[in-house]
Amino acid sequence: MNLSIIGTGYVGLVTGACFAEVGHRVICVDADANKVRTLQAGGIPIFEPGLDALVRRNVAAGRLSFTQSTAEGVANSEVVFIAVPTPPQPDGSVDLSYIESVAREIAGCLTGYRIIVDKSTVPVKTAEKVAETVKRYRKTDADFDVVSNPEFLREGFAIDDLMKPDRIVIGTSGPRAVAKMREIYAPFEAPVIVTDTNSAELIKHAANSFLALKISYANALSVICEASGANVQEVTRGMGLDARIGTRFLQAGLGFGGSCFPKDLSAFIKISEQLGYDFQLLKEVQRINSAQMERFLQKITNTLWVLKDKRIGVLGLAFKQNTDDIRSSPAIDLCQRLLKDGARLKVYDPQAMEKAKAVLKPGPALEYVATAEEVATGSDALVIATEWPQFGKLDWTKVKSSMATPILFDGRNLLDPSEAATQGFTYKSIGR
Ligand code: NAD
Repeated sequence: MNLSIIGTGYVGLVTGACFAEVGHRVICVDADANKVRTLQAGGIPIFEPGLDALVRRNVAAGRLSFTQSTAEGVANSEVVFIAVPTPPQPDGSVDLSYIESVAREIAGCLTGYRIIVDKSTVPVKTAEKVAETVKRYRKTDADFDVVSNPEFLREGFAIDDLMKPDRIVIGTSGPRAVAKMREIYAPFEAPVIVTDTNSAELIKHAANSFLALKISYANALSVICEASGANVQEVTRGMGLDARIGTRFLQAGLGFGGSCFPKDLSAFIKISEQLGYDFQLLKEVQRINSAQMERFLQKITNTLWVLKDKRIGVLGLAFKQNTDDIRSSPAIDLCQRLLKDGARLKVYDPQAMEKAKAVLKPGPALEYVATAEEVATGSDALVIATEWPQFGKLDWTKVKSSMATPILFDGRNLLDPSEAATQGFTYKSIGR
């Protein structure tokens, strides 16, 4: 089928490439001229494992192309997906201006029936607003349906998540749209749930808030474990092996970050408030998440005492492993706070350093280095801030001998505490 995707970012590009991979012809549209030029020249503007090869293969096969023109996308596709940003506003509500502007653009070039699919994460009732907007701004009486089709991919595992989804949610009232959406997703062989648009929109916010809740639950347990001498990894594993609970998203650490959980949680709290419900449970999830970072920083100051001029190596800048995304990254937050207290940092991340430089400017107190080992050299302490698996496999004997004082703060529980102690580290992790 001929498809277009408006917004070629972490969601739009991977979705477009996966749709092309199963045989659809996809036009990816983006307003950012640099991004489109990079893609047209064969470059990939983001890091996502496997994406480079997937995009190349489908471009070469003539199934995937890139343009800056929404009109070109809409003219040449039966179904138009919207995957533009829905960033948070200062009060936690969602900035829907990108969605509104794309809805107007689509309306302006609608000449025949189209299915307009919202893949961005949006508040309940957005599909209704999109439909109203398209109706108001269309220049012909061309018919259309609006579908809410939330995306559940995890950055770092996006291709796998898209090719083998747990479920596909199709929210719409139009039978014609349901049939087309089923056809688009048939090759993925996943369970399909058909709902009204409001329910589909709520599914996404409800799911992300629940996952954030699981993480905060594990983090709250980590406090109890530290106070009682228990080990949070053993406790969460023991809990998670109960099939009703599940082990995933039950890891204690520095707290959740990224472009989705913090903003989706704030948005859901705000949406609930607007609908007359004070979602105290989710406010507590947020509070636990911020407290987790405070507690970790406290551990660092309790151990190092004065931070001014302490040389601290930080391993990881991305908000999690396998991505170059630094949006709302706890690692970046941690660096900013350490710098504010006068520490001198050496930092390293396998993928996120270029993006990090835009928010953490290199300078006399902040040096970007080329390897994980260099981060340790001469430092008073080392912090693991992102759970890249390679950080757990460093040659710790070598690392220790290169440090000024062998103090290790493991914000992701990557190492075994007794092994770290055997190596001679003063080792602090989370809830163990
Ligand atoms: P992103 O910032 O990586 O990509 C969005 C793209 O849209 C950018 O390239 C931007 O230039 C482009 N854009 C903005 N306005 C445009 C316009 N008028 N016309 C064409 N292009 C335009 O964002 P993302 O991470 O891909 O997220 C997109 C949406 O998907 C958000 O609502 C997000 O909450 C949701 N989502 C994200 C993830 C994730 O892991 N990143 C997962 C599920 C859902």
